[in-house]
Amino acid sequence: MSPAPLDILALAAHRDDVEQTCGGTLLKMAQRGYRTGILDLTRGEMGTRGSAEERAREAAEAARILCVSWRHALDIADGRVENTWENRLKVARVIREQRPRVLILPYWKGRHPDHYTASVLGYEACFLAGLAKLNVNLILSTLQASFSQAIAGENPPHRPFKIIYATLYYDVRPTFVVDITDQFEMRFQALMAYRSQFTDQEAGSEIFPAQAEIRSRIEAMARFYGMMAGVTYAEPFLQKEVGLVDDLTAIPVKSI
Ligand SMILES: [Zn+2]
Repeated sequence: MSPAPLDILALAAHRDDVEQTCGGTLLKMAQRGYRTGILDLTRGEMGTRGSAEERAREAAEAARILCVSWRHALDIADGRVENTWENRLKVARVIREQRPRVLILPYWKGRHPDHYTASVLGYEACFLAGLAKLNVNLILSTLQASFSQAIAGENPPHRPFKIIYATLYYDVRPTFVVDITDQFEMRFQALMAYRSQFTDQEAGSEIFPAQAEIRSRIEAMARFYGMMAGVTYAEPFLQKEVGLVDDLTAIPVKSI
């Protein structure tokens, strides 16, 4: 039996990316009664701090704090997220299985190759997921000896209605922001659930900022995007499409 479709699915390269870029938005949507989900492409085995197992436990705890209905990590190699046929199929399989209405992808430019590659990979996987004649499970089973999914279990084609991009990692002007003033604290707690990454410790202390510094940075970013829209804290997004307006008097954010 297939699960109820997700209203919103956030996809990211690494466990803890979603918590940093759109965790407040996911929590807000869950509080409104929507089914939300997170797909992490990798499991964090290359991280300076902590093992993949530790990060799995931390990711589950963060998902609980953000009231996420579904979370899964694919087995794509950490630090080597590549936009291959096989990886696109792996993501397409999840899209067909979870049938999200809205998909949140990372922005397509960035410092970390895994982040911007995840963006294109996610978009192209959505395209594949909608192709009626493509049997994703059948092809995956021929590509991967370990792929045990029954061929008969192919889900019907599906594409998300809307794809938006979380831009927090890159300095680009968002096309809209989501007010997360009421969700900011819980979102910060979700990030702090990654104790192996963010607790003050010796390992990697030259590349990881201290916890107090992280708090200041996260607050500054959320404040910055909040100020753009006249609220306290917000998360930035970009959509490729234009905005459609029905009632000019209901457009939010003050101009003057
Ligand atoms: Zn990342």
